[in-house]
Amino acid sequence: MQRKLTRVAQTFRWEMGHRIPYHRSGCQNFHGHSYRMIVEVEGEVRTTGMVIDFFDLRDLIHPIVAELDHAFMCSNDDELARDFLQTSGLKVCFVDFHSTVENIAHYLLQRIRPLLNPYPNLHRLRIRIYETPEEFAEVVAPLTANRPESEPNSDKVH
Ligand SMILES: [Zn+2]
Repeated sequence: MQRKLTRVAQTFRWEMGHRIPYHRSGCQNFHGHSYRMIVEVEGEVRTTGMVIDFFDLRDLIHPIVAELDHAFMCSNDDELARDFLQTSGLKVCFVDFHSTVENIAHYLLQRIRPLLNPYPNLHRLRIRIYETPEEFAEVVAPLTANRPESEPNSDKVH
């Protein structure tokens, strides 16, 4: 089989509250965004004719999106919000960073990347997150590092 490198992508959406406590132009206030994430993987087309089955990709990533949907993302450094939210009973995602779209992109890259380990045909992961329709952050990481050379069910061409 010839190597057919191909990129495929899937889009996810969620609503989430946040604030940037040190911001002075509005983002210090409690507010939220309709986030949109495009998860793109590049890899070889397998004997199934697919790089990765979109149903499998959605099954892998949906639980993470469900954690964030209608939650408030709160930095552990944000004492004002943290102290209130800890006892509120509301849905919160506590994180060790301030929830800029750049940091959220890196956070989701770290969460999603290991989930793709069972797919040795994948070479690269790209995550783009839109905080508004006009603004996004994008991060890219290789998927081949630290993987065994050959894995069961691999149809990689040697
Ligand atoms: Zn915001």
